Amino acid sequence: MHEANGLLVSLVRNCAGICDGFWESTTYSSALECADIYNPPMRIFLAVLLVVCSVPSFAWGPEGHRVVADVARDHLNAQARRAVVQLLGNDDLASVSNWADEIRRERRETYGWHFVDIPWDADGFSESRDCYKPTERDPSSFSDHHNCIVDRIEIFERGLADRRASRGDRVEALKFLVHFVGDVHQPLHAVARARGGNDIYIVQFGSSRCGSRPCDLHAAWDFGLIEHTQQRGSEYVELLERLITSQHLEREAGGNPEGWANESFRLAHEVWLNDGGAVDQSYYRRNIPIVDQRLALAGIRLAQLLNDALGK
Ligand SMILES: [Zn+2]
Repeated sequence: MHEANGLLVSLVRNCAGICDGFWESTTYSSALECADIYNPPMRIFLAVLLVVCSVPSFAWGPEGHRVVADVARDHLNAQARRAVVQLLGNDDLASVSNWADEIRRERRETYGWHFVDIPWDADGFSESRDCYKPTERDPSSFSDHHNCIVDRIEIFERGLADRRASRGDRVEALKFLVHFVGDVHQPLHAVARARGGNDIYIVQFGSSRCGSRPCDLHAAWDFGLIEHTQQRGSEYVELLERLITSQHLEREAGGNPEGWANESFRLAHEVWLNDGGAVDQSYYRRNIPIVDQRLALAGIRLAQLLNDALGK
């Protein structure tokens, strides 16, 4: 399983450069034409690539989301655990934790739900300013007044807790929540500047190329720093469990999505680099405690949210 994750991460990194040109493509066929690749095997490869390519700019990488989900699993109460099994069947939280990224291309209306663009000089989150961002590229954004991660976590939490809602709607709410509670803890998912650091090009551990694309600050936080830990899967989860105990993080398991986004927003200022900056060994040593703490907090807060919604 961990090898498969590693493979996915390296595929994402290596294909990311190809993704750049497709980024604004609204349909599969236009992306395929853009690639100018017409032989059938390449089209299939490319179709897979397009799905995978949707990952880098929008989330902790697959590894980060799985780790958050596994920490949450360990902190569910018995009733919430049973409810998760009833809803997900053979799947578990980790196996659905990247679903929200996988469906983002077919479900354009979900594009803005993975982050919140808080202006750099703001005091913090403002729903009226940050959750209504109409844009021609996404027609649904004109009618969506909850087009941000903070509102979406609250909406899906209510949807999951609603026993009268359809099973399908509750399963979907659960899958979005597992992912978005992770995303809102990634500092660069709460700041508008340079598209959350996507447009900040950096040198990552001595290289300006990450796979076949230039290294950027957002991807360093999604993937680069986590990969550099060399911790994978259950090893990383155990490390975070020790951190939760030693730093008494359970005391911070509560709060609300607005507060979590504001924490991320403040951290974004702390970890920010300008164009040409270096994610090097010293940046890593300074910031990996923040990565670990954010993943751990995301896990125990997700558990508490699920305990509240399902475990009573
Ligand atoms: Zn995401």
